Amino acid sequence: MRKVKALPSELKATSYLPEQVPNLRGPVAFFLGRSNVGKSSLLNALLKRSLARVSKSPGKTRSVNLYRWGPKLTLVDVPGYGFAIRSREERDSWRALMAAFFERIPPDSLGLLLMDSKRDLEEEELGLLDSLSERGIPVEILLTKVDRLGQAEREGRRRAFAEIPLTWSFVSAKTGEGLEALRRRLLNYAKATT
Ligand code: GDP
Repeated sequence: MRKVKALPSELKATSYLPEQVPNLRGPVAFFLGRSNVGKSSLLNALLKRSLARVSKSPGKTRSVNLYRWGPKLTLVDVPGYGFAIRSREERDSWRALMAAFFERIPPDSLGLLLMDSKRDLEEEELGLLDSLSERGIPVEILLTKVDRLGQAEREGRRRAFAEIPLTWSFVSAKTGEGLEALRRRLLNYAKATT
């Protein structure tokens, strides 16, 4: 498979508050997942530069970060959820930011839900999948840190995920597994979307 050549990328905007989230047009691919799932590492590996902060203390970044990748694709780093949300206030502000984001993206956006390949789909993920499906936004699953799985575990995951009606793939920011296919997927999506 021919490699996707490095495309220019830049941070376009950071929104901390719902009212700061811009209205987005054109192809938008957004990445969401539980804190510590490896989202920043994946985005950096994908874009081949250090754009996203890799958190040593999870939950510090609670902003929607928009990147331009190549001539027309907007990649969005959506804030993580899960154990980093400690209080009801934090949860409410995360939900408000998410709601504003979902209101301002086109319905033909592409959602990429990251999950640690050692974990199962939990309530939080199922809730997100439901709300995206209500909005008619397609989602694909990326099983992260697959380098940590042994051969048997990997086969187990493969069998378990074959049962769910969603497109999924293994990725690793560490070894680069799945990244070239993901770049290609994003470029094809951008090409097919105006
Ligand atoms: P985020 O909170 O979702 O942005 O996650 P980070 O990218 O900050 O990563 C969380 C932790 O997982 C860090 O300690 C990373 O070094 C580690 N990590 C991220 N991606 C990988 C991967 O592909 N393989 C392995 N083994 N560790 C990873």
